[in-house]
Amino acid sequence: MIGTFLLVVQALIYFVTMAAVFHARRRFGIGIFVCVLGVMHFLETYLAAVFFVPLPFGIVSPGSTVMFSGKLVMFLLLYIKEDAETVRQPIYGLLIGNVLMVALALVLRFYGTIVDLPGYRPDLAFLDEMGILMVWGTALLFVDSIALILLYEKLGQRIANTLFKRIFLSAAIVLTFDQLMFFIGLHLVSGIPVNALYGGWIAKMGAALLYSALLVGYLRYVEARPALAGPEPLLKVFDRLTFRHRYEDLLQRTGIDTLTGVSDRGQFEAVAQPLIDRSLTERRPVSLLMIDIDHFKNINDEHGHIVGDKVLKNVARALAGSLRSGDRLFRYGGEEFVAICHDLSAGDAVVLAERLRTAVENTDLAESGVRATVSIGVTTAEHAPMHAEQMLSDADVWLYRAKKLGRNRVESEIIN
Ligand code: GH3
Ligand code: MG
Ligand code: MG
Repeated sequence: MIGTFLLVVQALIYFVTMAAVFHARRRFGIGIFVCVLGVMHFLETYLAAVFFVPLPFGIVSPGSTVMFSGKLVMFLLLYIKEDAETVRQPIYGLLIGNVLMVALALVLRFYGTIVDLPGYRPDLAFLDEMGILMVWGTALLFVDSIALILLYEKLGQRIANTLFKRIFLSAAIVLTFDQLMFFIGLHLVSGIPVNALYGGWIAKMGAALLYSALLVGYLRYVEARPALAGPEPLLKVFDRLTFRHRYEDLLQRTGIDTLTGVSDRGQFEAVAQPLIDRSLTERRPVSLLMIDIDHFKNINDEHGHIVGDKVLKNVARALAGSLRSGDRLFRYGGEEFVAICHDLSAGDAVVLAERLRTAVENTDLAESGVRATVSIGVTTAEHAPMHAEQMLSDADVWLYRAKKLGRNRVESEIIN
């Protein structure tokens, strides 16, 4: 009983400290949080190999239960509040750091004679075992953390409809996998008995429950701002986690706006007319939305261009997250976007535009309380032929009207 209680106390200390350090990132940067994660990683792998306590349901490692499970949940927090590009930094950092550590430790073996300090004798066999476990644990962690984030995205889209369920299920699945795989390594290296497998698993499920509840509480009450954008396509998250997008960026550099990641003006020029033609020849209506950020100059003036750029990026993300999968979004000019949406009646196009408008309005755009709104002009074509330029200039007329009528609104011919 006292053992379980101690585990819970440790988990609480762990979570509260990590969450506080994470929360301080706005003031001090994310480096501190990442560094703390790195330090804990060493202790946790060490403890996971050597320190076990008997609990009513089996023998349990506080290192695995409290610190390893906690670390995975911290990765999830990093992903939820920041993005895949941020979370992959500690993932890769831990991988490289551990490989480096093991390499340096291996070299130690080649020193011929070492000074004998009375009462202290380095245990090289232990170092070797730890080395193997470190490599195995780190490789697993790498798989775990990527799987965790992909599961979190996938479950969110399909199964788990609450944040708690989403976090808990992703963590529970990954921890189960990890428990099994790490145990195999541990069993082979240090002959840990099988009841550590069950005991550890039950403890990890408990940790997943507790940490998920704590994380949801933290996200709800401490980081009360809404998360950025909608769900990201799974493949894109995977690409970003594995740096593949760098390569793909290179391939597509021509068509992608480097700041916002949406298609650029050149791309618009290349595909707008074919998109319009295709819809209209299939006798489906096609809409063009022209979206302009309101008073963007003021945002730049008040907060500086760096924040301005971040706002632009997040507006693009909010817009992209609210469009349907077949719709196309382009950065047309500095703070102007164009969306081409097929197969919507003129009325439905206005509904979609409203959705975009409110998505931007409700998004915290630079993580510093900066908010922005957009005005949108909508035009819909139903019969061929229709020129892209004509649609652009029609949408521009309605956009101008939306600006004149006070901004943060949608205008189109059917409204008027
Ligand atoms: P409104 O559209 O509501 O009439 O007002 P506005 O202030 O948004 O109007 P305007 O279109 O004149 O201002 C656009 C500003 O956008 C001017 C320019 O400094 C800024 N801008 C354009 N491209 C970028 C960019 O890539 N990054 C940043 N930070 N600012 C940009
Ligand atoms: Mg403008
Ligand atoms: Mg503007």
